[in-house]
Amino acid sequence: MRVLVTGGAGFLGSHLCDRLLADGHQVIALDNLFTGSKRNIVHLLSRSEFEFIRHDLVNPILLEVDWIFNLACPASPIHYQYNPVKTVKTSVMGALNMLGLAKRVKARILQASTSEVYGDPQEHPQKESYWGHVNTIGLRSCYDEGKRVAETLMMDYHRQNNVDIRIVRIFNTYGPRMAIGDGRVISNFIVQALRGERLTVYGDGAQTRCFCYVDDMIQGLVALMQYEGKDAAEPVNMGSADERSMNDIVNCLGEILGHKLEVEHHPLPENDPIRRRPDTTRAKKRLGWQPRVSLLDGLRGTVDYFRRALADA
Ligand code: NAD
Ligand code: UDP
Repeated sequence: MRVLVTGGAGFLGSHLCDRLLADGHQVIALDNLFTGSKRNIVHLLSRSEFEFIRHDLVNPILLEVDWIFNLACPASPIHYQYNPVKTVKTSVMGALNMLGLAKRVKARILQASTSEVYGDPQEHPQKESYWGHVNTIGLRSCYDEGKRVAETLMMDYHRQNNVDIRIVRIFNTYGPRMAIGDGRVISNFIVQALRGERLTVYGDGAQTRCFCYVDDMIQGLVALMQYEGKDAAEPVNMGSADERSMNDIVNCLGEILGHKLEVEHHPLPENDPIRRRPDTTRAKKRLGWQPRVSLLDGLRGTVDYFRRALADA
């Protein structure tokens, strides 16, 4: 297969490129390097089956491909809120451009959606059938609503033009190659702990998330892309079911690093979801997928990565 990975120089995108190349595919990584980095793919640049294109997805592009993984979009709140209008454009125009391409070349397309389509959920855990609880005019809306429109466009191209689509609702995922300045909680806490700084806990730290290790997520993305069932166009949640508070995460890192970590509390950001946990029954039933890596093992691998990244920086 010839595969296009948008956002291919980012955290998830670069791991996906590694996996697709290992599976014997030809891979084109497309990225504008806003939050991604050539460092994430430098080890691939000399390979003849790999190509990198610096391109902004708000502009159309013509390529001959069989599969499109549409991952381009800043994922960390500090980055997607830096230029919120651009975030909406990336999600909406990016999805339009990639769907137009998929339609033209008859490619299968997978859209990286998000647990944020559920907003601050009033149903727990979140099933794919839940329509969500999203503030349309808050600071997170540029990301949440952008992704919701991307899902809508996917379904409309599917119904109207028979485009072969996959939609994955990704829940919090972490691991090596997150940027040092990414701003999401796992990378923030690890970098702060390794630098001997206090960990910045927003609010009282009782809010929850479920953290999935990157290797498990990549396995899931590929499994969904390969899935051929009649229901393949329906959205699928992917993430860990191991629900933890931010205070738990501080304690886990303390256990790994072998000493108690000091924290400082900051205000809880606007519309920060209080509880989040995916119902992953659909992924398990249809794809036989479930995460394998425990939180402690995943965090250990990520701590090792940031130790090296900080030494190199
Ligand atoms: P990331 O920020 O590391 O990767 C996003 C990539 O997209 C970066 O390389 C960035 O430079 C690129 N990009 C951004 N805007 C672009 C544009 N206009 N044109 C071309 N490239 C552009 O984040 P990630 O965690 O790897 O996220 C990848 C995808 O998965 C995103 O779509 C994100 O919304 C989704 N997702 C991730 C998580 C998670 O926890 N990691 C959770 C839910 C959804
Ligand atoms: N968070 C925190 N300290 C940080 C960064 C984030 O306590 O330095 C909290 C944040 O308020 C949220 C949770 O960690 O409740 C997860 O935040 P992240 O930005 O990683 O992902 P998202 O909110 O998009 O799930």
